[in-house]
Amino acid sequence: MAAFDNTNFLDYAPAPESTTILHLKKSYGLFINGEFVPGHGASFLTVSPSTETTIAEIANANATDVDLAVAAARGAYDRTWSKLSGADRGKYLFRIARLVQERARELAVAESLDNGKPIKESRDVDIPLVAAWFFYYAGWADKLDYAGIGPNPRALGVAAQVIPWNFPLLMLAWKIAPALAAGNTVVLKPAETTPLTALIFAEILQQAELPAGVVNIITGAGETGHALVNHPDVNKVAFTGSTAVGRAIARSTAGSGKKLTLELGGKAANIVFDDAPIDEAIEGIVNGIFFNQGHVCCAGSRLLVQENVHDEVVGRLKRRLSTLRLGDPLDKNTDIGAINSREQLDRIRELSDIGEAEGAERWTAPCVIPDKGFWFAPTIFDNVSTSHRIAREEVFGPVLSVLTFRTPAEAIAKANNTPYGLSAGIWSDKGSRILAVADQLKAGVIWANTFNRFDPASPFGGYKESGYGREGGRHGLAAYLESTGWSAAK
Ligand code: NAP
Ligand code: MG
Repeated sequence: MAAFDNTNFLDYAPAPESTTILHLKKSYGLFINGEFVPGHGASFLTVSPSTETTIAEIANANATDVDLAVAAARGAYDRTWSKLSGADRGKYLFRIARLVQERARELAVAESLDNGKPIKESRDVDIPLVAAWFFYYAGWADKLDYAGIGPNPRALGVAAQVIPWNFPLLMLAWKIAPALAAGNTVVLKPAETTPLTALIFAEILQQAELPAGVVNIITGAGETGHALVNHPDVNKVAFTGSTAVGRAIARSTAGSGKKLTLELGGKAANIVFDDAPIDEAIEGIVNGIFFNQGHVCCAGSRLLVQENVHDEVVGRLKRRLSTLRLGDPLDKNTDIGAINSREQLDRIRELSDIGEAEGAERWTAPCVIPDKGFWFAPTIFDNVSTSHRIAREEVFGPVLSVLTFRTPAEAIAKANNTPYGLSAGIWSDKGSRILAVADQLKAGVIWANTFNRFDPASPFGGYKESGYGREGGRHGLAAYLESTGWSAAK
């Protein structure tokens, strides 16, 4: 196919979203027992990855602060939260959901500023899903008897929750909404590079008049997370992040009696059969790996395309990628925002260089990289084989590996040839083929003729090194409850 010439297009005028809606403080404390308090550790700065400018100074929770936060959560559990009816807990969750909607634009701007993701994604995907998650679990709060684990299930107590930087507020919602609906109290640690929306969320909790101590938000780095998950007065640990840290947490909590759920990495196969609707598949491939700069645990990072349509699919894909706009995350035209941190950018570069050295064919979308900030242009590796590191390791960036197959059996074998098992995609015109293939894929979530769709009613989680436990739906609720009577398993 001839190279795509995009020089004839009219250029877009910039359409930056204003930041005047933000009322940021110069510095933020820890949110403990309903108030912002100073931390005992050395504070740090959160920066905007698209400009490398400082947004705010953030308190750092050390072991003393972790003690205070866990004590606040325990006190709130004993004194108030465990005494409330489910219907009353639900009222708070509905209130939080409505406040998130009211402050949606502000939250979207803050998220794009701190994380680097395009405003059209934070505005149209992240924040609406945050509200949806709280609305969904608000409805469950007085219906716990139907969570599937018998009558009168009990809350676990204090939940320690640690989340990553790729969907900062959405991961917070995935953790906090079911925990509160089930009657637990919470101490949550956001990622060091993206604490901002969690702190604005703390202001929302004050606005909602949530009883003090029911949710505590402590900022800091990995050490803070380590102290939190290992705290002896914690009953439940919920972690989303890398497989390496997840493994360490599984080891350190083993035998402690703490309930544990782990949502870890992925290396999803996006399988395109020759009868697939190609135009839709191209959009699905783009959404699968270039949404959120590929910083998505369930990203479709391995394209498995049937050999006889390989050239057509890859040709059209390159043409489509040549039209993506990379740049200012706050610009409403932007498709590809900034990489969240220099460390992550270095990792993407390193794995991409390894891909090239191992013999895969590298193609990069033509785009102008801004002078400041952390950026990586959409990249495709063709002629990748299953032994290449870019086909096995999670790049967690805008990098797609293309592999081919001839038969459904080969597609299934290649798709399952990974230590992970979080998600997969299937593109085909035939419903029977989709069902037959889906049945044999070892992945927790399988999308058919779509990709990266999320709904609070739908459980999400992995197999193998992608972790265990489910978030979302009734299963996500059950992860925060224990049975007091008969068990559904009996
Ligand atoms: P990470 O290094 O594991 O960090 C995740 C969180 O854990 C952060 O808040 C981090 O703090 C904290 N942390 C670091 N070391 C810790 C320790 N020893 N004990 C307790 N907490 C600790 O992962 P990441 O690089 O930020 O995130 C990317 C990874 O998350 C990818 O592998 C991705 O696939 C995975 N992810 C999975 C899902 C899912 O649902 N399965 C969703 C999103 C992301 P600091 O950030 O302050 O270091
Ligand atoms: Mg930041």
